[in-house]
Amino acid sequence: LMNPVKRPEVTQELSENVILTTVDDLYNWSRLSSLWPLLYGTACCFIEFAALLGSRFDFDRFGLVPRSTPRQADLIITAGTVTMKMAPALVRLYEQMPEPKYVIAMGACTITGGMFSVDSPSAVRGVDKLIPVDVYLPGCPPRPEAIIDAIIKLRKKVANDSIQERGKLRQTHRYYSTTHN
Ligand code: SF4
Repeated sequence: LMNPVKRPEVTQELSENVILTTVDDLYNWSRLSSLWPLLYGTACCFIEFAALLGSRFDFDRFGLVPRSTPRQADLIITAGTVTMKMAPALVRLYEQMPEPKYVIAMGACTITGGMFSVDSPSAVRGVDKLIPVDVYLPGCPPRPEAIIDAIIKLRKKVANDSIQERGKLRQTHRYYSTTHN
């Protein structure tokens, strides 16, 4: 009798990775062109975001459909200064969004506190101290074209996303804490 051909063993880790990678590709492909941003703005940066929603910039071509409820949104663009008073509401909105979800930090005030970072006790010095940020969009304010550029960068990130890695990010990110300011 001939010896049966011995098949190479597929480790459990490898088999999980193959399945997850395939699911990742399918997931990412389906989400890539249908990011739905939450209508969220706290200061002057939102004026530029509002301009982007007009027909001139043809925002819809990316499949972005603005939503008024976090339950239907998977993207939040933090447009404008975030104050300490607003922080708990922002975190709550973020937590109400279903996974997978993404954040674009728009404008100097959102990213670092901007001009309020000098001596204002009420401005949050960086929204990434509250929620995890995927794309930073500097400017004061960034123009609609710059927002489109940030969305294109986010789409590239979504295309290479991994469900497993995002799960780890959620576990390790430190949420809102008043001790940061
Ligand atoms: Fe206003 Fe500039 Fe701050 Fe945006 S970055 S909220 S435009 S001051």
